[in-house]
Amino acid sequence: MHTRAIVAREPTTHPTWSLEEVDIGSPADDEVLVKITASGICHTDILLSSIPSGSPLGIAYPKILGHEGSGIVQATGKNVTRVAVGDQVLLSYYSCSSCAQCHASNPMYCAQFNLENYLGRKGPGVCKEDGEETWARFFGQSSFGEYSLVAETSVFKVTGLLQSEDELSLFAPLGCGFQTGMGAVKNVARAGPGDVVLVMGMGAVGMAALMTAKIQGCKTIIALDRFPSRLRLAEDLGATHTINTAVPDFEFQKAVRDISVNGASIILDTTGVGKLIEEAFRSLAPLGKLVHIASPPPNYRFSLDVSALFTTGKTITGCIEGNCLPSEAIPQMIQWYRDGLFPINKLVTYYPATDFANALAQMHDGSVLKPVLRWD
Ligand SMILES: [Zn+2]
Ligand SMILES: [Zn+2]
Repeated sequence: MHTRAIVAREPTTHPTWSLEEVDIGSPADDEVLVKITASGICHTDILLSSIPSGSPLGIAYPKILGHEGSGIVQATGKNVTRVAVGDQVLLSYYSCSSCAQCHASNPMYCAQFNLENYLGRKGPGVCKEDGEETWARFFGQSSFGEYSLVAETSVFKVTGLLQSEDELSLFAPLGCGFQTGMGAVKNVARAGPGDVVLVMGMGAVGMAALMTAKIQGCKTIIALDRFPSRLRLAEDLGATHTINTAVPDFEFQKAVRDISVNGASIILDTTGVGKLIEEAFRSLAPLGKLVHIASPPPNYRFSLDVSALFTTGKTITGCIEGNCLPSEAIPQMIQWYRDGLFPINKLVTYYPATDFANALAQMHDGSVLKPVLRWD
């Protein structure tokens, strides 16, 4: 069928995205054709379209990105059992369902994860303009199109969980950024009432982490960012303290220890900034946990004082997708939203899909946290 999609081509100094006419085929046996309602933009879309082809994962262009989305099932391949035509669905990451980690209910560490999610597969989409086959099935889904062929494992049925049509757009980003921040606090750090939680970087992932820390009853929740507007929003969403890194003569450890003299028991890094990561490790309380949920620059290496690690019992870890199973995380976040505990409506900004360049610019300048492109 004939459709339109945002196609990423070889980057110059920045990602090169354009809305193009694309032809796509019918679903393979394990695929679902989805008419996309809305697509969230996540930093990984930008990161993986900023890397020249070839390195480091075998990145190739042209490709259709998008790994947060929602829509309505139009057709299913012959092996598909999870959903049927007409179902409303949210989209999340791909897993193979057959490797050891998938069998152990850890699909976010699937043996095929990097290949299938970060690269996707070539075809069957063809760009109208030059007849080139696109790379698609990014995270099993490539949600940046009017229609997309999605892997069955990337589809989660929400028919029956929605109270209005509009919620299909609002919930579109639940399958990556929001579940990542939520799960990092709930599943990985296992935050509780006694914790002093520091969230570094108040983008959509950081805000989801913050809201979850509040839900978990954490006594002190510190939001760190360089944009005052984000820190104000963080306070509105439950931060008990804020740290602005952009003030003159900023001293990271002093700022943390002025709030909690022993340091933070949990620090979540959504920035990927090496200097902040090293300060964060030093600002942990004994037995504290530092959880990485953002990618630092590819050549960055964390240099660790191992003595400081074993004499303090600190833990450094990371996670993919907050160690979330979308089938559990998505209904949980929807319920919290209904209970007024996870107000993602305050974080989402809608754009017509044609206006994606504006969405990117406003994400970049910090004025928008979670842009959502609408295809209707
Ligand atoms: Zn697997
Ligand atoms: Zn993402």
